[in-house]
Order: sequence, then structure tokens, then C-alpha cells
Amino acid sequence: MTLFEKIIAREIPADIVFENDHVLAFRDIHPVAPTHVLVIPKKPIAMLSEATEEDAALLGQVLLGANAVAKTLGLMPGGFRVVVNNGEGAGQTVFHLHAHVIAGRSLTWPPG
Ligand code: AMP
Repeated sequence: MTLFEKIIAREIPADIVFENDHVLAFRDIHPVAPTHVLVIPKKPIAMLSEATEEDAALLGQVLLGANAVAKTLGLMPGGFRVVVNNGEGAGQTVFHLHAHVIAGRSLTWPPG
């Protein structure tokens, strides 16, 4: 069981900002910006590159969850960034797919 499954099961505490039948969103424990929230699907999938056509709805729910977080926290019109790290080489450390929702500071492009 991954760390994030334990958060879904309420075995580990988290600062939850949004939840529905499909996703859970909670504040990152090591925020990289004033707002840094993780959106995870309740059905575990290790990483984006393992997704198939069968996961289309799940992937959509994660992005809609990011939008719900933005609405809940009033991130517009300021703007926000949604990031998915896929694989160790991209910085993924928890192997339960998640989208980072980041906002509240100047976000440069391209990212470092
Ligand atoms: P990634 O590096 O893309 O796999 O993102 C994993 C994120 O999970 C990191 O930004 C961590 O800071 C965050 N994280 C690790 N443990 C916890 C926790 N118990 N509660 C909230 N966020 C966590």
C-alpha cells in the first residue's frame, strides 16, 4: 500500500481541500509555493505512463479535481500550474499517480 492509499484510507492525516467519489486533494507536506495541493485518483495507478484507454475517465477526473481545487481555493484569475511527474527521472517519488496544483507565486516558463 502506498503512502497515498494510506491517506485515502485515513490511516495517515492530510490537510484535505477537496474530495469527491473519484479523487482526493490535499496540501503537499513540502510545499514549493504558497499553494501546493496534490490531486490523486482514489483508484490507484502508479504513474501516467501506465495509463490505458480504460483510465480515460480517471485521468479526466484528476484534471477536473485540479480545477475543483482551483475553484475551492480561489486560484483564478491569478492562475495556477498543474504538473505530473512521471517516473524517477522526472522527480516522481510516490508511485500513485498525482497532479500537483501550484499557485501563489511567480511561475516561470519553461520550468527548471
Ligand atoms: P512526486 O515527487 O511528484 O512523486 O510528489 C510527491 C509529493 O508528495 C511530494 O511533493 C511530497 O512533498 C509529497 N508528500 C510526501 N508525503 C506526504 C504526506 N504525508 N502528505 C502530503 N504530501 C506528501
